[in-house]
Amino acid sequence: MSKMKNKVVLITGAGSGIGRETAIVFAQQGAHIVMVDRDQAGMEGTGRLVAEAGSDSEAHLCDVSSREAMRALADEVHRRHQALDVLINNAGIGSAGRFLETNLDTWEKVLDVNVLGVVHGCHFFAPRMVATRNGGSIVNIASAAAFAAAKEMPIYAASKFAVFGFTESLRADLSEYGIHVATICPGLINTPIVKNTLFEGAMAAGGKARDKAMALYQRRNYPPEKVAQAIFKAVVKRKSVVPVSPEAWALYYAKRFVPSIMEQLGKMDAPVAK
Ligand code: NAD
Repeated sequence: MSKMKNKVVLITGAGSGIGRETAIVFAQQGAHIVMVDRDQAGMEGTGRLVAEAGSDSEAHLCDVSSREAMRALADEVHRRHQALDVLINNAGIGSAGRFLETNLDTWEKVLDVNVLGVVHGCHFFAPRMVATRNGGSIVNIASAAAFAAAKEMPIYAASKFAVFGFTESLRADLSEYGIHVATICPGLINTPIVKNTLFEGAMAAGGKARDKAMALYQRRNYPPEKVAQAIFKAVVKRKSVVPVSPEAWALYYAKRFVPSIMEQLGKMDAPVAK
């Protein structure tokens, strides 16, 4: 119970999947959970689970892609807490569709949430963490798609490569203030992410790709609890880059040591595409 006692942990996307499980794991260690999501009902569900785990929480309805909303969120959170001990930028959305069939509106929407959402979190919360000189951790959720770019996921891959690169830079930058910065790269995790994924072009036709992808994630059945545990361990052990799941580790090492195999893999049709 002692590891996170009285620590303030903010989690974006806390209303579902990886964010919800992460809230529970940190709550079990005694942390106060600041939930951020655009889904009020989701946060209410997480709040109940946090209470069952023996901790308390507060819920903030907020769209991470909105600069104004995130500024107001930070003002509100900093009225209650001097600074965050742990910031977890987790909120994100999926997208799928071959590049020639993607719409620029979708590019904007996904990059606004997946990339700018993470930047907003760091922009509005890191300065107080620096100013209070208490160290702390910033955890950004990227993906195995930050090193394995399937041809059906150009927007998602671009967003996650961006999160990965930004987080590398941020880690180097904030190290002089004693702030630990981690990049988490999950593989296929069984959460509702596919339900909310933006499908385009042939992949959107008839909803078949979505159904197949949902079935694939369920069959793979890698639980979000394990990602939450990896996030907790990354914070406690101050780890830098953490792939989660066997396929994420395999892709991580393949990209480093046999990049030509990754190039061939990228050209293959995803199992859900046809
Ligand atoms: P999820 O859909 O279960 O949860 C995402 C949560 O983020 C939801 O509660 C949603 O309401 C919230 N959210 C989305 N857009 C938001 C916005 N603009 N503002 C505020 N909240 C917003 O998905 P998940 O699988 O738990 O995904 C969490 C993170 O993990 C995402 O960044 C995702 O890209 C990443 N990830 C997921 C997988 C996977 O296989 N599930 C794999 C790798 C990376």
